[in-house]
Order: sequence, then C-alpha cells, then structure tokens
Amino acid sequence: MRTWQKSLAVLKNGNSRFIQNKVNNILHHDLELLSEAQNPYAVILCCSDSRVSPDIIFDRGLGDLFVIQNAGNVCDTSVFGSIQYAIQFLKTPLIIVLGHTGCGAVTAAHNHKRMKGPLQSIVSLIDKHIVDGSVLDSTENHTLETAKTLSSALNLHQDKFEQELKVIPAIYNISSGYISWMDIDKEALSIPDH
Ligand SMILES: [Zn+2]
Repeated sequence: MRTWQKSLAVLKNGNSRFIQNKVNNILHHDLELLSEAQNPYAVILCCSDSRVSPDIIFDRGLGDLFVIQNAGNVCDTSVFGSIQYAIQFLKTPLIIVLGHTGCGAVTAAHNHKRMKGPLQSIVSLIDKHIVDGSVLDSTENHTLETAKTLSSALNLHQDKFEQELKVIPAIYNISSGYISWMDIDKEALSIPDH
C-alpha cells in the first residue's frame, strides 16, 4: 500500500523535473495495465485555472493523480464525496489542497465582489477565509483553512481507513512553477516563496 510520505516525495520530485523542463512521465503509460485498476499516489484538490494542471506540474501520467478541480479549489459535498471515494476504495493516502497565485476566484472574494448566478456560491465558500493583507495572504489562508476542514473531517473517520491519511496545503506559483508547501499544524510555509 502507498504511504503519504512516498507519495509526497513523488510529487516533489515531479515538480522539480517540471521546473527544470525535464518532464518524463506525462506521455508514458500502459493502457492495458491501467485498465485493470487505478492506484493513484495522491488526491489533488485544485483550481480549474487553465494554468494549473496537476498532471503537468507534478510530471505524472495517467493513473497517478486523482484530481478534483473547481474554481477557487473550494470544498463542498461533491468534493468531500470524491475524496471519500479515493481514500476508501483506491486507498489513496495523501490529499493535497493546491491553491495558486493569481487566482481569479480568490481575488473576487478578497475584493468583496458579488457575482450573479451559481458562481456566487463558490465565492461565498471563499469569503470566510479572506484575511486583511494581500490576495496572496487570502489565497494562503483559504488553502490552509480548506485543508484543515478536510483534515478534521477525515480524522473523525481515520479508524475506518487502512492507510494513514495526510492532508497538506500548498500554493503553486504560476510564474515560477514552484510549489510552497504548508503545514496544517505549524501554519507556516515550509519553504520560502519563489
Ligand atoms: Zn484559481
């Protein structure tokens, strides 16, 4: 069974290759093998922003990442349900909540914009995580708080899962390709912004 530590190492190595322009996994896959089962390293909850594509920025191929995308990487019932599927049936040990710099949804919430239609329901889920300071401050806090919510919900049910689960928030920098990893407990970035 995969461990979250091994999965995290795979993601960090893949992002390192992406930054160095040395991606090598994206186009390599065995469809016959993949048709039998999937065993993804991690769940990635991230924004739908077209500049944030987890398979590319982590240099992973088909079957490697269980990706959930919506504008602003918010967590609602369908997201919870999708994550439950991955950890319960695919035994995925690691859940990454991946915010990003230049996020339009977080910027709208940060600037107290009110949207017409269903988009407002997404912005409303970000509103409560907005802080004084820059849009990046709000993005970090929104990502951190979303990860905390997920982690608390999963901890309540940890005894039902075979694998040890870990939820890690992170911010993807769309201009450098770097990822700043956060720690739910320390509430601080583990590496400096690039
Ligand atoms: Zn975004």
